[in-house]
Amino acid sequence: MVLAAAMLVSTAHPALARDILVSDQGQYRAAVKRAAPGDTIVLADGEWRDFQIDFTAVGAPGRRIVLTAQTKGKVLLTGQSNLRIGGSHLLVSGLVFRNGSSPTSAVISFRRDSKTIASNARVTEIVIDGFSKADRRAEDIWVALYGTDNRVDHSHFEGKTNAGVTLAVIRPKGQGEANRHRIDHNYFGPRPPLGSNGGETIRIGTSEESLSDSLTIVEHNIFDRTSGEVEIVSVKAGGNILRENLVLEAQGAFVLRHGNGNLVERNVFLGRGVADTGGVRVINRDQIVRDNYFEGLAGTSFKSAISVMNGVPNSVINRYHQVANARIAGNSIIDSARITLAAGADAERSAAPVDSRFERNLIVGAKGHNPFRAEGDITGIALAGNVQAAVAHPLPGIEQREVKLERAANGLLYPTDAALASVGAPRDLKPVARAEVGAGWYRGDAPEPAFGAGTTRSLAAGASLAEAVADSRPGDTLALATGVYDIAAPLTIQRRLTIAGAHDAKPLLRVASNLARVAAGGGLRLENLAIDASAAAGEGALVAVEGGVAPNYRIAFDGVSVRGPGKGRLDGIAMAPGTFADDVTLTNSEFAEMGVVVLGTGEQEPKGWYPMERLTIAGSRFERVGMVADLLRRGNDESTFGPWLAMTRSSVIDSGAGGVSLRIAGAQHSDIAQNSFAGSGGILVIHSVGAPQTRIASNVFAATPAPRIEELVWKGPPRGLIEGNLVEGQP
Ligand code: CA
Repeated sequence: MVLAAAMLVSTAHPALARDILVSDQGQYRAAVKRAAPGDTIVLADGEWRDFQIDFTAVGAPGRRIVLTAQTKGKVLLTGQSNLRIGGSHLLVSGLVFRNGSSPTSAVISFRRDSKTIASNARVTEIVIDGFSKADRRAEDIWVALYGTDNRVDHSHFEGKTNAGVTLAVIRPKGQGEANRHRIDHNYFGPRPPLGSNGGETIRIGTSEESLSDSLTIVEHNIFDRTSGEVEIVSVKAGGNILRENLVLEAQGAFVLRHGNGNLVERNVFLGRGVADTGGVRVINRDQIVRDNYFEGLAGTSFKSAISVMNGVPNSVINRYHQVANARIAGNSIIDSARITLAAGADAERSAAPVDSRFERNLIVGAKGHNPFRAEGDITGIALAGNVQAAVAHPLPGIEQREVKLERAANGLLYPTDAALASVGAPRDLKPVARAEVGAGWYRGDAPEPAFGAGTTRSLAAGASLAEAVADSRPGDTLALATGVYDIAAPLTIQRRLTIAGAHDAKPLLRVASNLARVAAGGGLRLENLAIDASAAAGEGALVAVEGGVAPNYRIAFDGVSVRGPGKGRLDGIAMAPGTFADDVTLTNSEFAEMGVVVLGTGEQEPKGWYPMERLTIAGSRFERVGMVADLLRRGNDESTFGPWLAMTRSSVIDSGAGGVSLRIAGAQHSDIAQNSFAGSGGILVIHSVGAPQTRIASNVFAATPAPRIEELVWKGPPRGLIEGNLVEGQP
């Protein structure tokens, strides 16, 4: 047994302030019970597994009680761990949450329980990295800010893959309290698309209490690829400030969703052309959006650089209140796809913005396209003093002229003409530097190695593929010789791995039952292989993605031919519910005599979950298969970017079940072009909510039904573009 807590150092405060080093959970509990104002409890360096920290104490102004690490970054909270903070004048620093997840609904909670709430508490230099629940549908909040006057700063949050906001300001029902929290100098690192609502990086409040002021400040943070869903920051309260943040390649927007009188100023948004990168979306009264810089944002509609929405007349609290008295001024919008006014106008959202001003903004690019779109009446938005680089069909009230830009020392573009000094974003903007945010001692791991980034190992014909797979390291390639490899039992893929043969002499993989199961951390790329599963039992899938696979994974087939046990038997790639692929790609491959080649219908809950962000099929051939793909996304949520489907230059022969050979339900983007279908079931695309974009063009359908689009929600004729297809010899 370790001895009881040891006194380390006597600090400045006479007789009172102590540093107490603890090295197990029992010592910690004893120390926190006795902690007095000015004391510091120090967790010994090392791994603290399954540690649910209850840090409840009462410090005093200027004499906080501190919980910290012996060495910052060397105290690891792993397994089923979390932190609850209750009381006042407290500070926590230096801890790292990794390799596990919270057993409760939060990783760090600013309350011990509903009666013991934190105030004047600060969390600084904390890391939460990949501390996600394995099932992405299981929800938690990484930092739940209750109480008042709390601060979260210089911390690092990265890799949340399960449902729930990364950092939420929680406002108790019926109180509408002023929170006065400060969220500053944090690094919000990559958060991949969740594939559902609930992937916000920050949310302040909820609609119920949104008409009161939270007075929370979000400033000097970096949002780096925080692409969980359409709201990066979701403001649902009044009187908040979002100031001087840097937003990098982040899909979604800062959304003033509910609440009035918020200020969004001096933020820098750099989209670098990434799809769905947006800026600020304005709803409600008295919102100010000024002196911001937007560049290279590719988002449209609700993800425009700036969108000002139409409201619902007499809106209930959780719909859309009319925009009134909005001030959008002094912003630069450069090389960005869209500025949308009266956005979302429809029969329900019929209340146009009123008493609003859009002035002294500078709009340049993109490639001469006019980014402005008015989706409804914009006479309630006064346009004055704006300057736009000349475009073909300008909006009235926007001055058109030549604008030459030059990159300034701060990295941002400004007009060279001194006469434009008062138009657009101010010259003294200073994009936040990486070194100013996060925990200085933490940079996270190198990113997951890409396919082929590791070493290549040659494997002689007949060698055990199972052993080679087990010995592989992330990013490795197993190069197979020409010849036969027997796969007696499914290979377990736990790393990103490539299995490749030579293009002109493909190795033959003889599969007795199933080829592979993709487990946590896995990802599989197959190149130039012939797979013979004709003697397989025909159950399950060739490649099965197991439940609990996180983080997001990838699967690719290139130059692979697969022969199964017979039409309708043995699926190709099947995903367990709750898993989510960044992409699944089939190129230059052939699939014959099998079931559904890509089966993504595992998730049946109508909550908007779907199995993969992108499915790409190109230059491939499908003969006597159950279906090419069967994708399902149920529910009517509008918070996601995908799924995306592209199927091009492929052929489908004697395939399909129940009259359908390709079924895509609930996708946001479908592009099906230059394919040929012969003697097969047709294409069925099913639209649910949102503005799904479907193009079915230049395909040939021989003895195959014409493609169909069905609408589940939209009342008009089916949307989408069906053109240039040839339908012949229809059965
Ligand atoms: Ca949302």
